[in-house]
Amino acid sequence: MSAVPKTDNAVPTVPLLINGEWVDSSATEFRNVVNPATQEVLARVPLATASEVAAAVGAAHRAFATWRHTPIGARLRVMLRFQALIREHSKRIAAILTAEQGKTLADAEGDIFRGLEVVEHACSIGTLQQGGFAENVAATVDTYTLQQPIGVCAGITPFNFPAMIPLWMFPMAIVCGNTFVLKPSEQDPLSTVELVKLALEAGVPPGVLNVVHGAKDVVDALCTHPDIKAVSFVGSTAVGTHVYNLASAHGKRVQSMMGAKNHAVVLPDAHKEQTLNALAGAGFGAAGQRCMATSVVVLVGAARDWVPDLVERAKTLKVGAGAEAGTDVGPVVSVAAKERILGLIAAGEREGATLVLDGRGVEVPGFPQGNFIGPTIFTDVRTDMSIYTEEIFGPVLVVIGVDTLDEAIALVNRNPFGNGTGVFTQSGAAARKFQSEIDVGQVGINIPIPVPVPYFSFTGSRGSKLGDLGPYGKQVVQFYTQTKTVTARWFDDATVNDGVNTTISLK
Ligand code: NAD
Repeated sequence: MSAVPKTDNAVPTVPLLINGEWVDSSATEFRNVVNPATQEVLARVPLATASEVAAAVGAAHRAFATWRHTPIGARLRVMLRFQALIREHSKRIAAILTAEQGKTLADAEGDIFRGLEVVEHACSIGTLQQGGFAENVAATVDTYTLQQPIGVCAGITPFNFPAMIPLWMFPMAIVCGNTFVLKPSEQDPLSTVELVKLALEAGVPPGVLNVVHGAKDVVDALCTHPDIKAVSFVGSTAVGTHVYNLASAHGKRVQSMMGAKNHAVVLPDAHKEQTLNALAGAGFGAAGQRCMATSVVVLVGAARDWVPDLVERAKTLKVGAGAEAGTDVGPVVSVAAKERILGLIAAGEREGATLVLDGRGVEVPGFPQGNFIGPTIFTDVRTDMSIYTEEIFGPVLVVIGVDTLDEAIALVNRNPFGNGTGVFTQSGAAARKFQSEIDVGQVGINIPIPVPVPYFSFTGSRGSKLGDLGPYGKQVVQFYTQTKTVTARWFDDATVNDGVNTTISLK
């Protein structure tokens, strides 16, 4: 992704959305949105100015005064229309997503679908945003809670799910009665913008949803703006930690979902074919650029003999452009990402791991410029090697052998990340022990990528998350609302006089 001069008018500029109007930024700095399979420049995205960010937050702040009082039914009917529009436009937006991000068309549709499920969940807000009520907490006194919207919320999203992750955020925030400023990834904002257009078409009023583009300066402006009450972030650990610290220091509620190193633990009694399929799909699908991708395979006992089979399974995957039929593994998102991944593969070799499958130098006919890396597998990996300590975020699996399930659990628990993990076994007892003792927030049992459906929340833990409440599910309703507790007493006899009570008792 490179900076480009403003004079390059050959490609469209991605607009900002402020107060219901799509506007051209007066930015002086832009980034190219590049097709990772071809290097074609699809658009240029402005790094919005400070006054544009302020205008977006101002519009959201003004819109909150009305939107917060909009009846629940009116809010959820916007979401009902929104979900219908997403379904209608899914294939069109998937093509845009594949062009700007690289993943296969089927996976792009999946990206949209997993976001759509959150919009469907938002349609249940009538039963989600409910308070509690206790009658007679003291004589003639009742206590009840209100789940009130908190105000202007901001969302900052990564490149790897340009549909799903924005849809984790703004639909739930808005349906709770908040207003929103979204800062999509500057690497692939086009499909996100298409979804926002559908939200407006569905009836989201002016100012309720705003979009600004940019990088660090824009993010920092959102994290420090006094009118922003909550910040949702998804992205790398370094940036997520910065966002969490900065926004928290400015009094905001923050949820920050960050990097990962997801271990799949394979016991020798696992269903071999299904497990090999799962490992290859979860390790190399989306070119390994999923926060829940399997990146470490822990082979226990006799399962250590499965490495040649895993290599053969990986070799069956077709590397190619995401838009080409039959592609399993698309390009990684950028030239810079490819160089970084190649650097880590070289480091793995230098540090003494054995490269049993080398995806470097893969050639894709018709796409000589693409950022392709084929499936790559290391064995003999130690936990002090950079291919183990760093999130590679590419199609690279590292394999570690251990003798027992206890050793495997200890290994996973020593790793600082806690996004996802999986165990592959036919033994209920082993699976139950694993789910009980593993210190990772999302666990799959014979499931490689255990991302919860939206009726539950996304519950990554430890080094993969800062903040208490996760995206979607019931937790996000807590995140996007303030609980107000009311204690009320109504007198039905105006002649009664209880006298002055100077104690704290209600009686
Ligand atoms: P990133 O951290 O580089 O970017 C995320 C967002 O932060 C983008 O909108 C970007 O513009 C902004 N940003 C970048 N640099 C910044 C800076 N210095 N200061 C402030 N803002 C900045 O992440 P990415 O490369 O787009 O996404 C990949 C990462 O996201 C991986 O680490 C992956 O594991 C993680 N991720 C995590 C989850 C999860 O739920 N835990 C989900 C998806 C992705």
